[in-house]
Amino acid sequence: MDELLESLIRGERRALSRAITLVESTRPDHRRRAVELLARLPDRQALRIGLSGTPGVGKSTFIEAFGGLLTGQGLKVAVLAVDPSSTRSGGSILGDKTRMETLSRDPNAFIRPTPSSAQLGGVARRTREAIRLCEAAGYDIVLIETVGVGQSETLVAEMSDLFVLLLAPAGGDELQGVKRGIMEMADLILVNKADGELLAAAHRTVADYAGALRLLRRRPQDPDGFPKAVPVSAATGEGLAAAWSEMRALVDWRRAEGHFAAARAAQDRHWFLAELRGGLLARLDQPELRAEIARLGTEVAAGRLAPGAAAAKVLAQLDVNPPPAAAD
Ligand code: GDP
Repeated sequence: MDELLESLIRGERRALSRAITLVESTRPDHRRRAVELLARLPDRQALRIGLSGTPGVGKSTFIEAFGGLLTGQGLKVAVLAVDPSSTRSGGSILGDKTRMETLSRDPNAFIRPTPSSAQLGGVARRTREAIRLCEAAGYDIVLIETVGVGQSETLVAEMSDLFVLLLAPAGGDELQGVKRGIMEMADLILVNKADGELLAAAHRTVADYAGALRLLRRRPQDPDGFPKAVPVSAATGEGLAAAWSEMRALVDWRRAEGHFAAARAAQDRHWFLAELRGGLLARLDQPELRAEIARLGTEVAAGRLAPGAAAAKVLAQLDVNPPPAAAD
């Protein structure tokens, strides 16, 4: 354990991989070691950037180019992925070795494929802990990539300092069916593929989103002009340096105004409560209790027992005091 921790802190990639494998494991002895390791990590901070976009929008091309830009500036970049579809298909967005070929050979980059089997809850914990490990290993930037489906965007936004949404140029003036909630999470919208024949469409799309963003409620954690939409081309590299300046400007402002630390504190509190809920749910999931819960459910459905009374019976077995008024 000491050796793993020391190698990790020295920034050895193999140690980082091993440590992430440890936090991914569900074996109780591994879990104990993982918790011990996490408790002993030095307090280093990276900038955590969440990146979301639908398949085909250019995420891997963007990460390859943007990651290269950052390592070119002497920064160490780690790439993690949250891919809920991998739990169904067994595949993963970073499983394909041909993705990010240059970046994966860059000594200042670390790319971690998604494990192929995990529940979204487990993915949240794994990813948060992997972020901490990357920080301890001395990475300056942690990019957390996700596909634009389901709950994964919210999850990634809740563990990022900055949330970036990657979009493709739209055909007409429609806003690509991007849900309002996702736009509200975005700090920066990058309209990718702003090159060649798509250039004009990309600029129109940027204007459409800039207009839509202006209609959103101003957030206290944003300086004037944010959230913002800007054009980029992951293929040519055009606009990437400008996008990075926007990110830095936003982060500098948030640090100076105290929003950066406040957001992290709120995230930690959120994840503590999520872990607590998860832990309680896991205890409900024991075989004996499951049978008891099924039996009580039948009693409730038959009208022989009130829902609150039935819940109180189960909670009593968990040694958890039932709430005074078991409202929900
Ligand atoms: P992902 O599924 O979001 O990871 O998307 P990929 O990075 O695999 O890109 C999907 C397709 O879009 C590929 O054929 C890329 O070559 C293409 N692509 C990505 N970025 C750009 C860009 O900036 N300009 C153009 N013209 N094509 C791009």
